[in-house]
Amino acid sequence: MNSRFRSFSPLFLLLLIGGNALAQCDPVFRQPLSQRAANYEINLSLDDQRKTIDATQTIRFTNTSPEPVRELRMYMYLNAFKNTESSFLKGTTHIFGQSFTNRTPDEWGWINIEKIGREGDADLSGNMRYIQLDDGNTGDQSVLEVALDKPVLPGETAVFNLKWRAKMPKTIARAGYSKDFYLFCHWFPQLGVWEENKDGKWDWNCHQFFRTTEFYADFGVYDVHITAADKFVMGASGCLLSEKNNGNGTTTRHYHVEDVIDFAWSVYPHFTVQEDRWKDVYIRLLIAPEHAKLGPRYLHALKFALEYLEKHVGKYPYPSITVVDPPFHGLRSGLMEYPTLITTGTFYGMPENIRITESLVVHEFVHQYFMGMVASNEKEEAWLDEGFVTYFEDRIIDAAYGEKQSKNGNSDTRKAGILWLF
Ligand SMILES: [Zn+2]
Repeated sequence: MNSRFRSFSPLFLLLLIGGNALAQCDPVFRQPLSQRAANYEINLSLDDQRKTIDATQTIRFTNTSPEPVRELRMYMYLNAFKNTESSFLKGTTHIFGQSFTNRTPDEWGWINIEKIGREGDADLSGNMRYIQLDDGNTGDQSVLEVALDKPVLPGETAVFNLKWRAKMPKTIARAGYSKDFYLFCHWFPQLGVWEENKDGKWDWNCHQFFRTTEFYADFGVYDVHITAADKFVMGASGCLLSEKNNGNGTTTRHYHVEDVIDFAWSVYPHFTVQEDRWKDVYIRLLIAPEHAKLGPRYLHALKFALEYLEKHVGKYPYPSITVVDPPFHGLRSGLMEYPTLITTGTFYGMPENIRITESLVVHEFVHQYFMGMVASNEKEEAWLDEGFVTYFEDRIIDAAYGEKQSKNGNSDTRKAGILWLF
């Protein structure tokens, strides 16, 4: 257990009065489960014609170290999809079987901070520079450094206000759009981790974005207002607190989640919604309509995983889990984990005895414990997370469906094992 995440305290779930009983989801912990060193408030609007986001963002950062912090370092992940010079894309021409060398300019993505300043102080945007401490590739803009006019002192909490714009890429890997399906992940300016390094010196741990690296961030509270076209069905980390139709073709939704290391969301006009509960956990499945019949299989496997993990590892402390099942054309966003939101993948007509649907949702959910709560440094030790997750995925699937038939239901369906190429 990482010391940045306190022990599994009992939940003090307040039941909301009124509304859909299934949708009861209270994101507020009476006692924080983490140090909450990095907290984010984001207010954004999505222009789905231009595929752009305009956002204002507040970062509330607490310096928990004995040393002053003289600069900020932030992940600017979407710049990995700016062009073929990023360290993420350099040296390859295909990802997930897709060539990205002949893209039109509007299929690339980027993120740009227009203003950043400490509350009440001058704009610091002139102090920004992209740095490339991992590989020296000056074409990479996935880490931004901002020199501070005055340091954040030990024990001090500083509030920074940002104004930024981003353009979503046509999906190469996870983040982006495919037709009118979107996944917003690794999508906002996010602080690295201020920590004591191996030499005993306090410094930022904020690596560039590579194809083989995923998460390393501090725990905190995320409060996010998202404005998007009315047509979209939306899912996000945490709980939906309110929803307001603006009367101009857009709706603003307010989400909140506590003691997590990241925040993700997704929209698609054609999602069907299947809701369920397991004890205090609200389960929301957003499923492509052509997969809707597979919903009960996802939900059964997910609830079995919740039960198994509570018994063998610890209680799932969050009030919700959102499962995003992308349409086939959006599969490049599938099979990934974010705090209290996972993406999966399946195919129309998947035979019942071939349990890819089940094993994938279990795999991504187990990440909630290792990627999400243990939250080890995946940029330096990726195997820690994936190793434990794969182990527990197999244990859970064996326990749910029987050791000899956990992934292939019987010998006949094994002959259809070609599907296992996925
Ligand atoms: Zn995994």
